[in-house]
Amino acid sequence: MRWLIFLFIVPVVAASPISIKEYPNASSHAFIFTVDDFSASEPYEQQIAGDIISFLEEEQVPATLFAIPERMSPMDIPASFEVAQHGFSHVNPKTGSVFEYEGLTDQEIKERITQGKAMLESMDYIIVGHRAPGWSLRKDQVGLLKEDYLYDSSMRTSSVDPFEIPAYWPDLTSFICTKSGCSRFIAAVKQEFFSWSLRVWPKGRPVVIVSHYWGWEKALKDEAGVAYLREFFDEVNKEKYWKTTLHAYQEWTAKKQAVTYTFIQDRGKLIISWSECLPGLTYEVEPGLKVESSCKSSCKENTCVIEPVSSEGPSLSVP
Ligand SMILES: [Zn+2]
Repeated sequence: MRWLIFLFIVPVVAASPISIKEYPNASSHAFIFTVDDFSASEPYEQQIAGDIISFLEEEQVPATLFAIPERMSPMDIPASFEVAQHGFSHVNPKTGSVFEYEGLTDQEIKERITQGKAMLESMDYIIVGHRAPGWSLRKDQVGLLKEDYLYDSSMRTSSVDPFEIPAYWPDLTSFICTKSGCSRFIAAVKQEFFSWSLRVWPKGRPVVIVSHYWGWEKALKDEAGVAYLREFFDEVNKEKYWKTTLHAYQEWTAKKQAVTYTFIQDRGKLIISWSECLPGLTYEVEPGLKVESSCKSSCKENTCVIEPVSSEGPSLSVP
């Protein structure tokens, strides 16, 4: 009988027919929209800041707002949005350029970062992320942030270090508009480019789009600019993206990495157990059965039992 039991109850860890979907609800990609140089110190800046948020809310796209501490003030930010840090003043103290950290010592950079974070936190913002003004942080300086932040998004190339979340360049909003108005031609070319980018995005990599506060400022005042932005978000909303912030993405990634799972095939049934129940995390059982991680009745105490399916449908089999 021993061999019979062994045949029917087979715990399988290797060669798993289960794959975990990267993002909640089997979304194809995490989509994170970011706005750099976010400012709200003067009343007219607060007006623009509010308009950007309203526009994004209408499009149902949350955003990570990289705020310049020296140009920020307390304002109501929707709960689905994130305020993150963009340097201290966006001005290099030695050269006066926008490349705030360029040519500074590690200690000088650290001081500016610490001061900026404290300033934003004194306005009651929760700061867990950073992006360097003018991308002026070198790769070997990212470590300066690790103690006090969950992520840095100052690099534009992918990294194996989960602390670094690369941002996609070019910028969605720059060069579309000048003082004389927004160029329909450039907008059309850029729109085409971004649509193509979204279609060919590498699987598993988050889509982190960069835009700038001043680009929004110009675009929102011009019919062509508004049309361009609407078209872009319409494209985004056609896709099955998990639209989120860098903060939420980073927390999700850390949790997902900590989940372990096992499954047992028992007389045609498949029993999956995982160490932690992450709502919305989808487990795909080859060849195509999907199981949602859920703490509801179908999956009690992080365990799911999948009944065998009919002969016409996909069957459960241990490879
Ligand atoms: Zn900037």
